[in-house]
Amino acid sequence: MEQEKIIQAGKIATQVKEYAKSFIKKDMLLLEIAKKIESKIEKLGGKSAFPTNLSINEIAAHYTPTFDDETKAHGLLKIDLGVHIDGWVADTAFSVDLENSEKNKKLIYAAEAALKNAIDLIQKEKTTLGEIGKTIQETIEAEGFSPILNLSGHSMEQYDLHAGITIPNINTQNQTELTDGLYAIEPFSTTGSGKVQDGRPSGIYQIIDDKNTRSPIAREILSYITEEHGSLPFCERWLIKKFGTKAKIALHQLESQGILHQYPQLIEISKEKVAQAENTILITKDKKIVTSE
Ligand code: MN
Ligand code: MN
Repeated sequence: MEQEKIIQAGKIATQVKEYAKSFIKKDMLLLEIAKKIESKIEKLGGKSAFPTNLSINEIAAHYTPTFDDETKAHGLLKIDLGVHIDGWVADTAFSVDLENSEKNKKLIYAAEAALKNAIDLIQKEKTTLGEIGKTIQETIEAEGFSPILNLSGHSMEQYDLHAGITIPNINTQNQTELTDGLYAIEPFSTTGSGKVQDGRPSGIYQIIDDKNTRSPIAREILSYITEEHGSLPFCERWLIKKFGTKAKIALHQLESQGILHQYPQLIEISKEKVAQAENTILITKDKKIVTSE
């Protein structure tokens, strides 16, 4: 049953998050962190719903290590991980301070407090998307920081990470009521002006138009992606592990043919630090369960 799969994915995500908190240290390779997280997900019986995002400082989201990445963990690191069971996703994130900075710790606290207040509001009463955004914005601003206005939470469906409903991180005055469904709530706090812009290509891709391609390598790799990830995001690193560096050529071909979309890294426009907290909540007519904590 789908509800059991949603709960199970959440349980695995919770365990992996605790595991990640226990081993992440300054100067560890991001590549090693991602591999440990992703293999733990499999060991616990889940699958990665998307490549582990390990975004440092002003990179708000969409940094996943390349296959030969030499970046070491430092600064304010955001760990955003996803687990799925048959396409039912738990999406969760936390941030760590790796430079003993009071400011980082306060920024992280602001994102976590905003997440908690948003979830408390959802659990307490019927609420609107605008009210959730207002709570997030007020909590972060009360700590002296800004929410990121163009990043938001989202509804999820089977094999669909961003299923159409947006949960704002600011007061948009949106009167739409939050109804039954599966949602990720994800406040971002920053010492900057509170907006992200596109950065360099991330190596994170998703199928957007599953049409024919003439190139034999591209065809082979596309059929593997369809089988293995469906419409969920995946990364170059995973494909290089499976196919070697010819995967790079195939990805390039598939992207230029409009079959794949490659996500850009998302960078805070004033190049200031960003913290994130995220949990997944399941709302049914008789209960509201945070699946990932
Ligand atoms: Mn996430
Ligand atoms: Mn999310």
